Amino acid sequence: MRAVVWHGKRDVRVESVPDPVIKEPTDAIIRVTSSGICGSDLHLYEVLGPFMTEGDVLGHEPMGVVEEVGAAVTTLRAGDRVVIPFNISCGHCFMCTQGLQTQCETTQVRDQGKGAALFGYTKLYGQVAGGQAEYLRVPQAQYGPIVVPDGPVDDRFVYLSDVLPTAWQAVEYAAVPPGGSVLVLGLGPIGDMATRFAQHRGAGTVIGIDRVPERLQRASVRGVTVINLDDHDDPAAVVRELTGGRGTDAVIDAVGMEAHGSPGGKLARQTADLLPKPATAKLMQTVGVDQLAALHLAIDAVRRGGTVSLAGVYGGMADPMPMMVMFDKQLQLRMGQANVRRWVDDIMPLLVGDDDPLGVDSFATHHLPLDQAPQAYADFQAKANGTVKILLQP
Ligand code: NAD
Ligand code: ZN
Ligand code: ZN
Repeated sequence: MRAVVWHGKRDVRVESVPDPVIKEPTDAIIRVTSSGICGSDLHLYEVLGPFMTEGDVLGHEPMGVVEEVGAAVTTLRAGDRVVIPFNISCGHCFMCTQGLQTQCETTQVRDQGKGAALFGYTKLYGQVAGGQAEYLRVPQAQYGPIVVPDGPVDDRFVYLSDVLPTAWQAVEYAAVPPGGSVLVLGLGPIGDMATRFAQHRGAGTVIGIDRVPERLQRASVRGVTVINLDDHDDPAAVVRELTGGRGTDAVIDAVGMEAHGSPGGKLARQTADLLPKPATAKLMQTVGVDQLAALHLAIDAVRRGGTVSLAGVYGGMADPMPMMVMFDKQLQLRMGQANVRRWVDDIMPLLVGDDDPLGVDSFATHHLPLDQAPQAYADFQAKANGTVKILLQP
C-alpha cells in the first residue's frame, strides 16, 4: 500500500510499504478514506524528530471502511463505516472505565513511562503505524472504532478522531461559568473548534489570539473577538481591557510547545539540534525545550482564581514556570491528550442533523490525494496557501 513515511526533519515521503495484517484477535483492518494532518504531526516533522525512526508511518486522524476483523471483534463487520480515535484504548481497564482512555492500562507504553499507545506517534507512544495510508491495522478494535452512518461526506465525521474530542475536552476542562469569558490561544484547527464549542456551550465572551490573518478571519466571522498577536506588545493587557480589568474566567492554550515568540526555548532547541540524535532525545527528556510564550500568556491573561486548560502538547521536563504568579493568582490548571471515546456521545448529536452547527462540512481548507502529503506538510507548517485543516484522501 501507499503511506506517508517519516524520514527526518521536514522530510516525509509517500512510499510503498507492506499491507497491514491482523496480528491479534482484537485487531481490525480498515481501508482509509480520509485522514487529517494535525498540529501534532508538525511536532514530529520538526522538534520531536529524536523520538521518531526512519520508516515510521504517520497519521492519527483516519476514518474509513472495515475490511476485516479479528476473531474477538464482535462489534464490527466488514463494510462498517468507522472513525478511529487517535488513542488506542481497551474500554475495560481501571482507567478506561473512568473515562481516562489516554491512560489505558492495557495499551500503556510502560517501557517509556507513558500513557496509552497512539497511532503514528513516536516510540514514546508505542511506535504504532499510523493512518495517513491506504490501510490501517487498528488494535483494540473491539472498543476503539466509532461506527458512523452512511450518507454524509467524510468531513462530517472524520474530526471525531481528534479535533472534536480534543476541543470538547479543552472546553470541558476550562470550566467556563455560564455566560462567562474564555480566551483561546491559537486558532489552528484545535483552537478554532474550541471557540465553536465554547460558544455552543454558553460562554458569553469568546476571545481568540493568533497571528495568521485567515485563521483570525475564520474565527471572527463566527463571532469571536480576535486579537492579532503581532499587533500588540502586551496582549494580556488587551484581554484585561476587554474583561473589565480582570482577565478571562478561563484560558485554553491550543498552541503548545512550538509557540511563536519564545526566545529561550528556541535557543535550547538549536543547541539540541547540534547534538547526535540519542543525546538530543536524552536532553529533551531532562531539560525544558518547550517554547513557552503561549503558556506564559495564558497564566498572565487568566483572571485570579480562573482556569487554564492546556490542549496544546508540551514535552519538556524542566520548563521554567512562574510559580509565584500561579500560586498568588490561585489558578487551576488542567491538561492532557483527549480521552476521545469519553466525549463521542456528547458530540455525536451535533453531527447527525442537517444544520451542522459546528461547521464541520466546511472546516477543511484542503482535500488532497495522499501523494501530495509532502507539500501538504510543508504548507501546513508554513501556514502557506491558506492551509488551516488538510484532509488526505488515499
Ligand atoms: P496548528 O499548529 O495549526 O495551530 C497552532 C496555532 O497557534 C497556529 O495558528 C499558530 O499561528 C498559533 N500560535 C503560535 N504561537 C502563538 C502564540 N504565542 N500565541 C497565540 N497563537 C500562537 O495546530 P492544531 O492542529 O490546531 O493543534 C494545536 C495544538 O494542539 C498542537 O500543540 C497540537 O499538538 C495539540 N493537540 C493536542 C491534542 C490533545 O489531545 N491534547 C490533540 C490534537 C492536537
Ligand atoms: Zn491530531
Ligand atoms: Zn483500557
